[in-house]
Amino acid sequence: MKRSNKGIIMFFAAISLIMIVLGTCFVFKDSISKLDSPKEGNEISDTAKKPVEKPKKTTSNSGKVAYITIDDGPSKYTNRILDILDTNGVKATFFMIDGNMKKYPDEVKRVQEEGHSVGFHSVTHEVKELYKTPEATVKEFETCQETFLDLTGEVSNLIRVPYGSKPYMPEKSHEALAKNGYIMWDWNLDTQDWKGTTDNIVSNVLYYGRDNPNLVVLIHEKEQTVEALDSMIKVLKERDYNIVPISEDVKALNFWDKSI
Ligand SMILES: [Zn+2]
Repeated sequence: MKRSNKGIIMFFAAISLIMIVLGTCFVFKDSISKLDSPKEGNEISDTAKKPVEKPKKTTSNSGKVAYITIDDGPSKYTNRILDILDTNGVKATFFMIDGNMKKYPDEVKRVQEEGHSVGFHSVTHEVKELYKTPEATVKEFETCQETFLDLTGEVSNLIRVPYGSKPYMPEKSHEALAKNGYIMWDWNLDTQDWKGTTDNIVSNVLYYGRDNPNLVVLIHEKEQTVEALDSMIKVLKERDYNIVPISEDVKALNFWDKSI
């Protein structure tokens, strides 16, 4: 009896020891796997989540800037242009012709009120008239300024001369404009929208908008341009451009200074 009791005790002692050893191994193994995998797992899940959680970009830190400049308005298309710019949350620069400001005064006010930049694009839009004398050149832009002041109470010194500042503008006209404080802008991406289809316009932005950190995009107030505008903006945003209006404190880019 004594002997068998001892055997039973030994048996249970052995079983307990085995269970303790197995249990310890199991817990240890579990804690090792906890040390290894969760960190890696978290990293993987963070990386996997990023593209899904990526917020819709409104600004970029790329340092790339694109100015959308719109010539020859305002026009019957101005409100549609403004709606598209607004939907995309971007501001542009409108270079306006004097007679069109007088014809579309509400559009001029809306452009100004919605925070876009306004510059002037002459009265006659005719090389022969605009450059007849240096005084005639300055006078055309003064007239634009007066019209804009009457409509909005605001002033602007930004200008774009018709057909660009080269090759038509004579030296004397250039000097007179500079002396009177006008800030002249040309462009470096001509969408050729006045003669193109909507697809051509977007292709031109895709093709000519490569590898340039400072884009000045030229468009006009035309039906096909209005149709292309939303895609153009999306292309520029995809390429990490900050789309901003021209301001007077930025160094003007023009053909005359060879800065563009
Ligand atoms: Zn023009």
